Amino acid sequence: MAWNYFNPVKIRFGPGTAAETAEFLREMGAKRAALVADPAALRFGLIDAVTSPAPELFILDEIFARMRPNPTVQNMMDCAAFLARVRADAVVAVGGGSALDCAKAAAGGLPVIALPTTAGTGSEATCISVLTDDAGTKMPRTDPSYFAKVAIVDPELTLSVPPGVTASTGMDALSHAVEALWSIHHSPASDALALAAVPLILQNLEKAYANPGGLPARCAMSEGSLLAALAFSQAKTAAAHACSFPLTARCGLPHGTACAFTLPALCRLNAPAEEGRLHGIARALGFEDAFAFADELDRLNAALGLPRTLQDAGIPLADLPELALECMVPPNMGNNPVPMDAGKVEGLFLGLNV
Ligand code: NAD
Repeated sequence: MAWNYFNPVKIRFGPGTAAETAEFLREMGAKRAALVADPAALRFGLIDAVTSPAPELFILDEIFARMRPNPTVQNMMDCAAFLARVRADAVVAVGGGSALDCAKAAAGGLPVIALPTTAGTGSEATCISVLTDDAGTKMPRTDPSYFAKVAIVDPELTLSVPPGVTASTGMDALSHAVEALWSIHHSPASDALALAAVPLILQNLEKAYANPGGLPARCAMSEGSLLAALAFSQAKTAAAHACSFPLTARCGLPHGTACAFTLPALCRLNAPAEEGRLHGIARALGFEDAFAFADELDRLNAALGLPRTLQDAGIPLADLPELALECMVPPNMGNNPVPMDAGKVEGLFLGLNV
């Protein structure tokens, strides 16, 4: 079978590497970098780790932090107007997926250095920006111009992430890796990356959740999130992500929580696809079969306090037909190894009504 691998993002990984941002700016000839930052990055002083080695390279009198979680098209347009007004020659984005997505789409040709402060979305390594429009529809937009020039993944920036956000973002990363494994576009390269990511996340997410300040687990989660992003940027995501968009827009579930909600049920549903390939993957990961892997995903959701039933998620039974239709988001749904339709999605949700 033919396959491709392409990712143009220069990656620097490791604790303390945020301090190297200025070196990358110099390398790209930038002298006036604008900061686009998650409000938490300002609150927790994470920006200082980025700017303090060479403050003269950054515009410090105005920092754009006016984006909400799950940013809107309007947030992105406000950010673009800010970048034009301050006459930046580069963008340094510091934050979770929301801040990075906002900056990447707003940059409009300016080089972006992306520093994630959560371990989950992998936005630093993808050409995706997920924005919500005026009608409240949340949709991933893919454009090669959205790739950051450089991703600096410094796990120390994630030490302040509270347990609830650690849980949700960690499950986002796990969903990326698992969906990359079963996506119809999986390849030997994406498989290798995803298979490296899954154990890192399975073995460290609960540790990071229980002990936010523990650097080894944070390092493993940042590494797992990055590898998962490199995997799904090739293989794409599938039904769990398709379902996540209305679950966030309608029920307010954080992105990773929304992805994780259907992941165990989809693991069971997808088990027979490609002649039971998922059973082999599960065995390679140390499980008896795909059903045992699904049980572990379910256990993890419970251990992290994430919703597992319709009731937990606040979804009335009467909403299911409409919700299922909204989940039919092309192209993600079309990447699922078992072909899906609204009826199957409704059945999937009904199975969660326990
Ligand atoms: P987020 O960026 O919305 O952040 C969640 C919360 O955590 C916010 O309140 C934020 O202020 C806070 N926070 C962030 N970093 C922190 C830190 N270091 N310390 C304390 N608090 C911190 O959450 P996210 O999950 O990183 O991003 C979600 C967005 O990314 C969604 O819109 C999702 O659809 C999108 N996404 C994008 C991609 C992509 O490839 N571009 C992939 C997956 C998801």
